[in-house]
Amino acid sequence: MRVGRRRVAPDVGWVSSEIGTQKVAGLMPHIELHLHTKAGSADSSISVDALGERAAELETGGVLVTEHWRVWTEGERAMFTDRWGVQTYPAIEATTDAGHFLVLGAEPGVSLPHDTSELLDFTSSRGLFVVWAHPFRHYFDGIHTSQRPSFEPGLSPEELAEHPAFARVDAIEVENAGSTERENALALEVGRILGKPLTAGSDAHDLEHVGARRLPVAAVPTELGELVDLLRSLTLEDHL
Ligand SMILES: [Zn+2]
Ligand SMILES: [Zn+2]
Repeated sequence: MRVGRRRVAPDVGWVSSEIGTQKVAGLMPHIELHLHTKAGSADSSISVDALGERAAELETGGVLVTEHWRVWTEGERAMFTDRWGVQTYPAIEATTDAGHFLVLGAEPGVSLPHDTSELLDFTSSRGLFVVWAHPFRHYFDGIHTSQRPSFEPGLSPEELAEHPAFARVDAIEVENAGSTERENALALEVGRILGKPLTAGSDAHDLEHVGARRLPVAAVPTELGELVDLLRSLTLEDHL
């Protein structure tokens, strides 16, 4: 089951022609960014094998597993790719005082700062690629301040875009299948102002959400450098 039909790019799995809409399987490969398994995220119910099986079934060519607590080792990633034919890349989802940041290229065993500017000092000194994940999750919710993002309520997109961390991250996640439409729309609006690369992710924590957001790609990146190049090339048009 694919959750959510809205995609970040034209739905290339289906094409229109004068004889109607036809399914063209395998026309373009897909990758999926931002998901969690039981191997490194206490709040995920997806086993590593279940992820591999589901990704292979959906013909997803690569997955960016961004656990909360640790980076998969090279050995784990190699075993996954050997078994399921699905590429993986080293990454983690770091939690700071400003929210969640996907750090691509993080080393297994790394311990990342919880202060946002310290995290971004760390990542920039090592040339790591950082995506601000779901920056406005809970922004519109009347919840306890400890759960709220670090933005004042009621700000305009222009004011929100002035948060210093936006200037320092490499990309912004503007489509997250675990966020509300309103939160994603605000992220897109702010991303438009910032003019940075904009990404999409399923943020799957259960099997039903694997595949909820995928990116069609010309070719599946075989290593991290190729993935980073691809993410750097993502523009606003990919999300309209
Ligand atoms: Zn998150
Ligand atoms: Zn996540």
